Amino acid sequence: MQKKGLIIVLSAPSGAGKTTICNLLIKKSKNIKGSVSYTTRTPRKGEKNGVDYFFVNKKTFKRMIFNKEFIEWALVHDNYYGTPKRYLEKAINSGKDIALDIDVQGGLNIKKLYPNAVLVFIMTPTMKVLDKRIKTRKKDSETEIKKRLANAKKELHCMNRYDYLLINDKLSQALRNLEKIVYSEHNRISNIAIQKFN
Ligand code: ADP
Ligand code: 5GP
Repeated sequence: MQKKGLIIVLSAPSGAGKTTICNLLIKKSKNIKGSVSYTTRTPRKGEKNGVDYFFVNKKTFKRMIFNKEFIEWALVHDNYYGTPKRYLEKAINSGKDIALDIDVQGGLNIKKLYPNAVLVFIMTPTMKVLDKRIKTRKKDSETEIKKRLANAKKELHCMNRYDYLLINDKLSQALRNLEKIVYSEHNRISNIAIQKFN
């Protein structure tokens, strides 16, 4: 029987670097796929439909909820976001890992559905660095930045329900540490023993 791929959830307060790290991880590892979420948020400068997100209106998003097309969805910073079900299942059933850049509500819902999923919480070394990174990204309005920094405090409360904390100080080191987490998860006795030696 084909061994199922691992679901790697990456969550972080806005600006901590999860999109950057997630994209690098996918680029570096052939066996790790990314998932493109649906959102009702308006695209940021440079974002492409079908690449960064599938940008849809609320009516379409609600129809997709009704049709059970999402594995999970959540309202984050006043916009809807959802992970499409079909792509995720196809990837893990074919033995590919899948990295999900989703918020903490989504992460905890994934863990309920897939207890073997690994939940990684990414954070900057300090709140001051988070503040600086979100501002230097220069892609959100002043009001949007304030909202995101206020939400960061709530998101940090969920950290203790995650499996790992990944500090994103130096990017290359953070990526190496994430690869170690993925390696360790693949070698958990509970994840390998039965399929490999029976
Ligand atoms: P998130 O997806 O968590 O909101 P991003 O990946 O968009 O965060 O990163 C926020 C900003 O910080 C971006 O401008 C990104 O280039 C930058 N960044 C990410 N990781 C690092 C790092 N380790 N050191 C310095 N800047 C970083
Ligand atoms: P952003 O608007 O900065 O791209 O994303 C805002 C937040 O929504 C981030 O925490 C991001 O991880 C989260 N997010 C993106 N896609 C999904 C998704 O499909 N489901 C959930 N629950 N959160 C998502």
